[in-house]
Amino acid sequence: MRSVIVIGGGISGLAAAWELRGTAEVTVLEGRTRVGGKLRTGTVGGITVDEGAESLMALRPEAVELAAAVGLGDALCDPAKAPVTIWTGGALRPLPAGHVMGVPTDPAALAGTGLLPPQALARVAAEEHLPAAPLTRDCSVAAYLAGRFGQEAVDRLVEPLLGGVYAGRADRLSLRAAMPRIAALAERGGPLLPALRRMRAAGAATSAPAAVRGVAGGTGRLPQAVAEASGARILTGTAARSLERLPGDRWRVRAVTGDGTLTVEADAVVLALPAFAAAELLAPHSPMAEAGLTAIPYASTAVVTMAFSRARAAFLPEGNGFLVPPVDGHTVKAVSFLSNKWAWLRSAAPDAFVLRASVGRFGEDDLPARPDRHLIRSAITELRRAMGPLGEPVAARVTRWDRGLPQYAVGHHDRVRDIREAAAKLPGLALCGAAYEGVGVAACVATGRAAARQALAAAG
Ligand SMILES: Cc1cc2nc3c(=O)[nH]c(=O)nc-3n(C[C@H](O)[C@H](O)[C@H](O)COP(=O)(O)OP(=O)(O)OC[C@H]3O[C@@H](n4cnc5c(N)ncnc54)[C@H](O)[C@@H]3O)c2cc1C
Repeated sequence: MRSVIVIGGGISGLAAAWELRGTAEVTVLEGRTRVGGKLRTGTVGGITVDEGAESLMALRPEAVELAAAVGLGDALCDPAKAPVTIWTGGALRPLPAGHVMGVPTDPAALAGTGLLPPQALARVAAEEHLPAAPLTRDCSVAAYLAGRFGQEAVDRLVEPLLGGVYAGRADRLSLRAAMPRIAALAERGGPLLPALRRMRAAGAATSAPAAVRGVAGGTGRLPQAVAEASGARILTGTAARSLERLPGDRWRVRAVTGDGTLTVEADAVVLALPAFAAAELLAPHSPMAEAGLTAIPYASTAVVTMAFSRARAAFLPEGNGFLVPPVDGHTVKAVSFLSNKWAWLRSAAPDAFVLRASVGRFGEDDLPARPDRHLIRSAITELRRAMGPLGEPVAARVTRWDRGLPQYAVGHHDRVRDIREAAAKLPGLALCGAAYEGVGVAACVATGRAAARQALAAAG
């Protein structure tokens, strides 16, 4: 059997290992003491919660299918069908029906939300009549959408969504990479509103399923289940430090462990790492790949999870949570009412109301780095301003994700193409992870499985 080393035991690397089950001897090297990367559970006041990703995209199948394949099919669950609102202008306001990543499809529905003043609403409605030549090159989300719908629509509708998903900013993120559906329409030319309405109508006709799904007990259960089902040798607490090419296109990895160093050799290597970590290992082998990887910026974020006593709470929030536009100057960028959203959590902790507030967008690294007590206090203060006094939490936990989310800046697709072309010159080496074709878990699973096939094929 051929042998493969997977470096990085996040969901991308584990999906790669799983893809190779039965066809290669796989060793996964994970620097931390447990697998999972940004997928992990922890406890707050004894209640198990997700500290990183909490949902799996269901509109593309890869993550949900993998969960089912590794034995979590019965645990897959839908979030409550409840609205997410936007906290702006001193009130929680509904997102307009039918929006696509915040981009409105129906000016009349938007008018009823109170999100935009009349002048900005008129600007949105006018999009339908603005000429639009086909988009021929990538640009920022803000550059394109502000030109179509006006800056205020970008500030109050699109930015909150981008902050929630990418921890990114509209003036930096690539339209093609961060909003591929909108970019595809823009490339055809013509106003977006009618095209979005047609797209929406087609989606409604196919009675689309829930956009995301969860895993009872926490989406953080997924990595361990994948690791076990992969049959791979999983070495945690083992951080790869160097990569060496051996004669016969074999690879040697040197790693540090808790009690020394370790050397592993194999026919192929999959780098399932954040871009900056992959860059370090590739530096001696491909300056081109290293340069491209180093140029992918990252945003740091923090998640403040708090449990309140239902009995003592002055009131209980409704809905699944709210998003916050950066233009309003608040610390918190999103709040998820976990106890409303996930029935499994309500059953597991019926006396508590658990929510999580997220902090930190690209360029705001100082915010998530603040001491725990500051972050918790800011979250409580802003929750009170948004909704009213919830009281004091009975337990709180801060999880920091330093350089946790890659930013798909303008030109991201070209950069990834260059990186992949450079890496392809190294036989038996493949790259996967959130840095390339999508930050969501489903996209990561897809890149992991593809990288595994590519590495194995190249290895002979
Ligand atoms: C707070 C937060 C919430 C999110 N919410 C969602 C969500 O709800 N839904 C969704 O679809 N996506 C979500 N995402 C995005 C998604 O979780 C991540 O993009 C995805 O999990 C990344 O997986 P990965 O395997 O590519 O990278 P990672 O999870 O970063 O895994 C890489 C692994 O490599 C290890 N490593 C690094 N260097 C070395 C080395 N030298 N040697 C060995 N190991 C090394 C790391 O320890 C890590 O375990 C969220 C992300 C964050 C940060």
